[in-house]
Amino acid sequence: MTTYCVTLPSGQSWTPNFVQAIDERTCIGCGRCFKVCPRGVLELVGLDEDGRRVAIDPDDDDDDAEVERKVMTIAHRELCIGCTACSRICPKKCYTHAPAEAA
Ligand code: SF4
Ligand code: SF4
Repeated sequence: MTTYCVTLPSGQSWTPNFVQAIDERTCIGCGRCFKVCPRGVLELVGLDEDGRRVAIDPDDDDDDAEVERKVMTIAHRELCIGCTACSRICPKKCYTHAPAEAA
C-alpha cells in the first residue's frame, strides 16, 4: 500500500491520520473533540438505557428523559483532514486514526 501524504511548503512530507473510530464505551461526552475539530466531522448523540442512539438538541440544556448518557460520533467522515486534533485533546483516549491509501 502507498500511503497518502502531502508535501508542505517547507518541502517536508506530512502524512495525515484520518479518524477511524470513537470508542463509545470510554467516551464521556465531554465535547472537547467537537470544539477543536475544524471540519464539522463530529456529532454528539444520546444513548438510551439499551444503548440505542437518540437524537439530542445541542441548544437545549435540559437532558431528554430518554438519554442515559451522551457520546461523540463520526457524522461526516468524508470531511476529515487527518489533523488528529480530536485525538490529542481527548482525555479518555477514545480515538483510532489511520493513514489513507494513495489513489
Ligand atoms: S482528525 Fe481533525 S478533521 Fe478529522 S475528526 Fe479529528 S479534529 Fe476533525
Ligand atoms: S474528547 Fe473524548 S471523551 Fe470527550 S467527547 Fe470527545 S471522544 Fe468523548
